[in-house]
Amino acid sequence: MNKDQILKLLEEVKYPGFSRNIVSFGMVKDVFVDDDAAKVELRVTSTDENIKKQLKQDVETRLKAAGFKTISVLIAAPEVTGGQQTGGNGAAEDELLPTVKHTIAVASGKGGVGKSTVAANLATALMKKGYKVGLLDLDVYGPSLPLTMGVTEVPRVLPGNKLLPIKKYGMELMSFGFILGDDSPVIWRGPMVAKLVTQFLNDVQWGELDFLIMDLPPGTGDVQLTLVQKLALTGAVIVTTPQDLALLDVQRGANMFHKVNTPVLGIVENMSYYVCPECGHRSEIFSHGGGERESKRLNVALLGRIPLNEEVMTASDKGQPMTIYNEASEISREFMNIADQLIAKVTQEA
Ligand code: ADP
Repeated sequence: MNKDQILKLLEEVKYPGFSRNIVSFGMVKDVFVDDDAAKVELRVTSTDENIKKQLKQDVETRLKAAGFKTISVLIAAPEVTGGQQTGGNGAAEDELLPTVKHTIAVASGKGGVGKSTVAANLATALMKKGYKVGLLDLDVYGPSLPLTMGVTEVPRVLPGNKLLPIKKYGMELMSFGFILGDDSPVIWRGPMVAKLVTQFLNDVQWGELDFLIMDLPPGTGDVQLTLVQKLALTGAVIVTTPQDLALLDVQRGANMFHKVNTPVLGIVENMSYYVCPECGHRSEIFSHGGGERESKRLNVALLGRIPLNEEVMTASDKGQPMTIYNEASEISREFMNIADQLIAKVTQEA
């Protein structure tokens, strides 16, 4: 067996919790073969020892099955990207986002459930509570922040090629959409996405922030993997609609974060029910209580339920989160309530 054949074999090894393999992510640094002896060097940036152990085991199992007698799997120290060496708890985060206290990822199993809407409103709610907040739209495939926040400017580039976030509504905003333009390709290959995300984490000059809310692309793909490899996230919030709650997507999302030791702070159920604007009648369009039941089953808190409401869409079309567009509304109060729970959880984790 030669090096290429071993690489082919290693394509069967998935990163724990994700559907992509370690070769396509460039985690295989080197491969040496000598008769029935094989040596594989991996580069794993995660500080989680369990992940390293599992990857080592998985690689060994594959090589053993292929007939190798002497097998050695080495895990190299992460590459140093300037500054101090990464390693230890949260050290990677300190190096990449030195001015950010808490990083919260907002995720969803699939698109269109209102993940970006929730991310924008949570960011705004936290800002209204007096915290310094940044909102980072990491949706490489369909950045929506320029539209939902009504941003038409292009970020300024500072000396040293650092990007300055756009300031709006008292928050700091950054999106791939600010720099990619409308006609850029949306089909990025895994390694390119990883590079783009890392560069983005390195090159944006955030101010001193209490919270950085990260709007992830849907699913469990390349952006998620890069993030959990590079950062020790404070936690994740999963957005779903009631009819999707019972689907595997949500469970998969929660599992992914559990596996990489990122606390799932809770679920936000969006488009949960409908209140008739004429008569005020509240209809549970989907089976009631599903959210609570499922969140119990997944052992994750249900942080809140946001109704289906035309005003949420109107606000977003006008480039404003609901919490700014109609601050006194029931929905804005629910977002403020969710923000309170996040603050409590994050202070507890700390
Ligand atoms: P995702 O980020 O999950 O793809 P978006 O936040 O972009 O989803 O929302 C998809 C569409 O649904 C947007 O047009 C948004 O304005 C609308 N939307 C989101 N939440 C609600 C809601 N609670 N009521 C009505 N429309 C909503």
